[in-house]
Amino acid sequence: MKNFKIETDADGIAVVTFDAPGKSMNTLTAAALGEIESIVEQVKSDAAIKGVVLASGKASGFCAGADLDEMAGAFASGEDEASLKALYERVITFNRVFRGLETCGKPVAAALEGLALGGGFELALACHYRVAADNPKLQLGLPESKVGLIPGGGGTQRLPRLIGAMAAAPLLLEGKSLRAAEALGMKIVNEVVAPGGCIDACKAWIKGGGEGVAPWDKKEFKIPGGPVYSAGGIQVFIMGNAMVRKSTYGNYPAQLNIMKAVYEGLQVPIDAALRIESRYFANTCRTPQAKAMVRTLFQSMQALGKGSARPAGAAPTNVQKAAVLGAGMMGAGIAHAQALAGIETILIDQTQEAADKGRSHVEDLVKKAVSRGRMDAAKAEKTLGLVTATTDYEAFKGADLVIEAVFENREVKAAVTKKAEPMLADGGVFGSNTSTLPITGLAQASARPENFIGIHFFSPVDRMMLVEIIKGEKTSDHAIAAAIDYVMKIKKTPIVVNDARGFYTSRCFSTYVAEGLEMLAEGIAPAIIDNVGRATGMPRGPLEMADDVALDLVHKITVQTAKDLGDAYKARPTDALIAEMVEKLGRLGRKNSKGFYDYPESGEKTLWHGLKDLVAPTVDEAEPPFADHLRQRLLYRQAVEAARCYDEGVVTDPRDADVGAILGWGFAPWSGGPMSLIDGVGVAAFVAACDALAKQYGDRFDPPAGLRAMAKKGEGYYGPAPSKAVAA
Ligand code: NAD
Repeated sequence: MKNFKIETDADGIAVVTFDAPGKSMNTLTAAALGEIESIVEQVKSDAAIKGVVLASGKASGFCAGADLDEMAGAFASGEDEASLKALYERVITFNRVFRGLETCGKPVAAALEGLALGGGFELALACHYRVAADNPKLQLGLPESKVGLIPGGGGTQRLPRLIGAMAAAPLLLEGKSLRAAEALGMKIVNEVVAPGGCIDACKAWIKGGGEGVAPWDKKEFKIPGGPVYSAGGIQVFIMGNAMVRKSTYGNYPAQLNIMKAVYEGLQVPIDAALRIESRYFANTCRTPQAKAMVRTLFQSMQALGKGSARPAGAAPTNVQKAAVLGAGMMGAGIAHAQALAGIETILIDQTQEAADKGRSHVEDLVKKAVSRGRMDAAKAEKTLGLVTATTDYEAFKGADLVIEAVFENREVKAAVTKKAEPMLADGGVFGSNTSTLPITGLAQASARPENFIGIHFFSPVDRMMLVEIIKGEKTSDHAIAAAIDYVMKIKKTPIVVNDARGFYTSRCFSTYVAEGLEMLAEGIAPAIIDNVGRATGMPRGPLEMADDVALDLVHKITVQTAKDLGDAYKARPTDALIAEMVEKLGRLGRKNSKGFYDYPESGEKTLWHGLKDLVAPTVDEAEPPFADHLRQRLLYRQAVEAARCYDEGVVTDPRDADVGAILGWGFAPWSGGPMSLIDGVGVAAFVAACDALAKQYGDRFDPPAGLRAMAKKGEGYYGPAPSKAVAA
């Protein structure tokens, strides 16, 4: 065996250690599954073995689940019956192997010192006893639904049988993960022990007479919360269906299939239930949503997170000491991310008071992590100890990197650039966190423009995983590589783009808000606009998003763009409306509790009644097909802008464009991103739809020339156009 080793002790307890060769984390490959199957045979036939402890040889955890790279072949399977059958056979292997372990006739315990996710967690659920370590890094959960899949190793069947369908729902449908104490509270694990003590605790359970039978294999078994057709069960499914619909708007087949698998599976014995799950898994895999989500949210994200965009040949860099200029909202968040990654951080502001305020934000975030059990006291002390708040630029002499996050003002940025650069070590990089100012222009203040680059974070920094790296005209490969290495070190995902107004993310995101404003100007009721926006899969409607961004900022950008573009600027019908709301009525958005919505101190926000006096709604009903038309406008407007960015070379890799869209501005995740959406619809069909929209609404929908050429050649961003396109 390559993945497992077995050592049987004097008490006849076999410790089976999972240690995939050459990998930092265990994954369930076909080979590993085959080995588990032969271990089960050995356990059954060897009378000397009294019980089994399943453990991991990796410091990183127990097992991260199925090997998705290996599974990728399954997603590419054809549309015919034979391919579906082959896919089902592949998937049912997980259930057959895990069920074999569960019914081997001897007690099996899982020793969970670290994370167990997806198939790894399902393997633990197929054991008769689970012990987890009190380790803040431990996570238990089923994240499949986050990449458009359903759990396929018995998770949809064992978890509801263990804790009831109601309690299992957030884990199955939202991919919520649990820490050890939470899992113990929910009775998913049987014991929590100090780190390093799991194997002993498992052995003690076996020696104490631990039973090798799953609860659902006993005659007296009852599903917690009651069977499907009981008062409790019916409640769960009626409410559950409504809640799934409310949160997914029908965009995600995986969530629906999870509901179906649980509903149908709980009505039959476990073996039939596992076959039901495997069928739904195979069906889900073949949906365009699953294919696109796995590609973007797993494969592309992983590739980018490993530095796939690093220029070939650039020497590796490793930031040890970095300054952050400006200790405001962004600067403090960036300082926190750096310190967490072990980078010595000098946080600079104009006054000691302002710098200290930034550091106390870092302290708040660290304290919160400790209070939630996500960080231990030693790590908290180390993290805070790495952040020095000061006004003294000498404090970062010899730093490898400076991140500038002062006011969004060219002169202020130029002044701090000049002052900070001499403090950098040789080859040190200066990164600006500007959200709107072109990097090439800002680099004019630099004595070393080749080492000047855009490193654009998103707010709030501690929650947003994307960093957009922007190349200026003179930016060197060394600076790009260093920026990517830094982003990887702070465990975020980098995308690399070229310098352009709004870069990539802000430029495309702004079209979503802009299209919503166009609809408002046409007389479409604001409630319809935001409802349709949410139903497309965007996190919020365009008007809500405009409020979140701040209407004065939307106004400021409009004024600046009009000034910069001169005659080339095309005024939008709502420019005057926004100007009036900001300048005359002081409605700045969420930040002053007055925008398109009113934000009462307590209670939910409500649409501002006065809006109808500024633009009277003439359309206040949106049934299909009109609602579908609005949906198409909101999604295609963003996608066509992303296609333009690709055509113009602002983005050069569809993976950057797709990952950046979902992580950066929340572009409908079900689609896999705007490039995947275009491929999914079919490039030719997308171009034709955009032409029709352009005819009706103007050239903002005009597809770029490169996209038309792709349509003619039958190409897609990720390869040839698929034979069967989907509607978006
Ligand atoms: P902020 O106003 O909260 O913080 C700016 C900080 O810079 C303040 O503490 C200020 O005292 C300090 N500062 C100003 N001039 C300085 C100087 N000469 N030397 C040292 N410190 C100085 O602003 P913010 O929201 O943190 O934004 C900072 C930068 O990040 C801007 O360029 C902004 O465009 C960009 N950005 C903001 C967001 C966002 O959502 N807020 C997102 C991405 C990028």
